[in-house]
Amino acid sequence: MAATELAPDIAGALNWARARIAVVDARVLLRHVLQCSSARLAAYPEARLAMDEWTEFRSLVERREVGEPVAYLTGEREFYGRPFLVSPVVLIPRPDTELLIELALAHFGDKPHSRVLDLGTGSGALAVSLALELPDADVTAVDRSREALLVAMANAARLKASVSFVLGDWFAPLGGDRYHLIVANPPYVAAADPHLEEGDVRFEPSTALAAGPQGLDDLATIAAGAPRHLEPGGWLFMEHGYDQAGAVRGLLTDAGFSGIASWKDLAGIERVSGGQWLGR
Ligand code: GLN
Repeated sequence: MAATELAPDIAGALNWARARIAVVDARVLLRHVLQCSSARLAAYPEARLAMDEWTEFRSLVERREVGEPVAYLTGEREFYGRPFLVSPVVLIPRPDTELLIELALAHFGDKPHSRVLDLGTGSGALAVSLALELPDADVTAVDRSREALLVAMANAARLKASVSFVLGDWFAPLGGDRYHLIVANPPYVAAADPHLEEGDVRFEPSTALAAGPQGLDDLATIAAGAPRHLEPGGWLFMEHGYDQAGAVRGLLTDAGFSGIASWKDLAGIERVSGGQWLGR
């Protein structure tokens, strides 16, 4: 009779994974398989995995080894302190994008029934976070991907955020509606940028990343369209690429915005530009 194969303990499993992927990734994947805290992982190195847990862990490590992002493997990524469901139909939320939330909150008191718009919501990270941070606001989120909207709706439901989801291309489905605040993290990578072929980004939807020869096509569409959808005094904030701040301020100037400025991300790079619409 063949000897029964035994699954390794936690230390052994991490050791096996360490030869293939980064230790931090291995820990996140093992916690996902075992549904446990990092404290538990550290406290019980000699706890043996069940065979099905070992099989699942091995398959996740092998997928990570060929490049799949950890967030797609676990189906989750934290944004602004809350866990968001993600899948390959949406961009994985980045810590830098939390700057959009901070700017929105700083420029925008939570007045009753203020209207907030998130364009290209993807996973819903911005819309859901803003709805939860501004409980008196009415938040609308637009995306042209039906699959992405399903992910965003699942996040709103799971995190108990009240958001109106709308299918369509930027402002197209919104008629004459006006908002007090518009935020967007649109695609802004130049179509030929080699960054699109590197690392985790390869696995993300290119429709959420690439935007024309200079990456400015969608930023330009949003800047030009926003005045028809902002209340007088309302703000627009857009995330953009590391070398696009000057160009985006130019787009905002051309569209007639006031108080135009750029703000730096965690790496000290100008990452968000915005302005106030004073009406005309
Ligand atoms: N910051 C992302 C990246 O560098 C791009 C996100 C976007 O295009 N909105 O991969």
